[in-house]
Order: sequence, then C-alpha cells, then structure tokens
Amino acid sequence: MTRKVYDDIFKIDVALPNNPLKSLNVYVIRGEEKSLVIDTGFNQKECIDDLFRGLEELNIDIGDTELFITHLHSDHSGMAHIFHEAGARIYAGEIDGRLINYMASESHWARYEEEIISFDLARDKVTISEHPGFKYRLRQAVDFTYVKEGKGIQVGKYFFEVIDIHGHTPGQVGLYERNHKLFFAGDHVLDSITPNIAYWGGDENILAVYLNNLAKIYSFEIDYLFPAHRNIIRDHTRRINELVLHHRERLDEILQILGEGESTVRDLARKMKWSIRAKDWNDFPLAQKWFAASEAMAHLEHLYHSGLVERNLIHEKLYFNLK
Ligand SMILES: [Zn+2]
Repeated sequence: MTRKVYDDIFKIDVALPNNPLKSLNVYVIRGEEKSLVIDTGFNQKECIDDLFRGLEELNIDIGDTELFITHLHSDHSGMAHIFHEAGARIYAGEIDGRLINYMASESHWARYEEEIISFDLARDKVTISEHPGFKYRLRQAVDFTYVKEGKGIQVGKYFFEVIDIHGHTPGQVGLYERNHKLFFAGDHVLDSITPNIAYWGGDENILAVYLNNLAKIYSFEIDYLFPAHRNIIRDHTRRINELVLHHRERLDEILQILGEGESTVRDLARKMKWSIRAKDWNDFPLAQKWFAASEAMAHLEHLYHSGLVERNLIHEKLYFNLK
C-alpha cells in the first residue's frame, strides 16, 4: 500500500515476510529531478515486488531516485545494490555504510561465531545461518556517499539536515526538516515496539549512546516523526519518555536477576521477560535467542560501565556478577 503522508511525501508499505517487525515504512520524497527514497526492505522477492509496485504507483523511475539508508540492518539496506545498479546515489552514515559492505563478506561474521561462545549460546545450538542479517545481507559491495551531522540534502522544497542518532546501530543517521518540523527517524524511535539495542563488540557503551541520542531529539520541534516501522508518531516526547523508562526497568530487572547469583549472558536473557509469543526460552526461535542475548549484553555492558556489575571472561565465556 502506498499513501501520501505529507505534502510530496509518500509511504510505501514493504512487507517483511516471517518477521515480527511485519513491514517496513519506505518513505519517498518527491523532488524536481530526483526523488529521495528512505530505506529499502530485505534483499528478497516479496520486498522487491512491494517497493517497485509502490514506486510505479508514484510514477517514479528508480533511475530518477537517490537512496538514503538510515542504518545497516538488512530490512533497511538489503536492496541497495538494485539502486546502485540503476545509477542512483546512495547516502549512508560512514560507520554503517562501511559495515554494510564489510557484512557482504564472510569475514565480518567470524565475530558472531565468537559471540555464540562468549554469550553461552552454544548450548542452544544457535548458528550464524539463522541470523536474518546474514541470510538477507547484500552479497556485493556498493558505493556510498557518506553523510554526517551538519550535512544537508535538498529535495524539492525540503531541506533535510542529517542527524546522528546512533545507538540502535553504530552509525544510524536520521533526517530533520526544521521548517516543517519533520523527522525521519529510522529505528531510533518506534511506536508500540521498542527498538532493539544490541551489543556491537568493542567497549563503547552503546545503550548510553542510544539514551543520549534519545535525549538529543527530545528537544527538537517535531510535528511528524516518521519511523521505519509501525505508526507515524505525533508526540515524540511521550514515546521517548516511555522508551527511557523501558530501559531503566530493564536495567533494574537485570540487577535483580544478578542478585540471585552469577550469570552468563544467555542465562540472564532466559530469565528476562520478553514480549514475544513463546512459552519459554526453549520455544524462542533461534534468531530471537540471539537478539535477546545481544540486548541483554548491551544492558549488562551499561551496568558494567556504570560500575554496578563485574565482568569476567573464563574459558572464552562471559560471566556477570553484582559488584
Ligand atoms: Zn533496525
């Protein structure tokens, strides 16, 4: 389905089959020579069909577009190669752009093999082949035009400012239109579902970064916040307050679980409450076990950096304790 959501701005629903996210909101801003497309959908037939049907309804040829990728996740970037082949300019933040190209190679995924062990997921027989990021990744590198905060993109009557909103991924970027108070937020702020905050390796406290970048856009004047999934948001401060509270509750829940004794990442994730239609941990699809463990790890790292928990690596496996 394609519908107009603002003057010269359209939303194409791209279905994400067998994915709890259900669908991706692809936004198209009609310009004079080039129209700007924001995000793509998976590199998978159903998504490609939906996107092209939408562009056709809008009478826009892919060769007359530019693509803006908010972040590296394959539901947002999976079709970048199709735009690349059509000669479209592709904007992305530098960190995520480089990671997208790196993820196209097998070597990127070696880190995840280590995570299976350090997170204690080997017990659940989780393998890399279940990871949607691996399954639906781009298979070839594309050329990006890297953008960062301070850069502007003019499309028709709109002037978009690139805003650094990393946290959900290491390099997510959004677009802010100050005059009309519009914000294209990728997966930074979503209504009715909470953006996954994952561990990305290294020592950056990614949850703290995410919370800081929520605080940053809290003060922006925004009339329409256009998220990449679910409903368009008219009261972003309400939703940001809810998201901040959610993560505070998560941190408290983890401290409480660690109060019962030392835990691996997997065991902690198993004891946490998740809003997923599964009876218990054994019933979790393998990909969801991975996301849950990675989300638990991002929160554990936040507690570690805050000096509240201890982290020990024993025989390649991580153990966390209350300090
Ligand atoms: Zn995402």
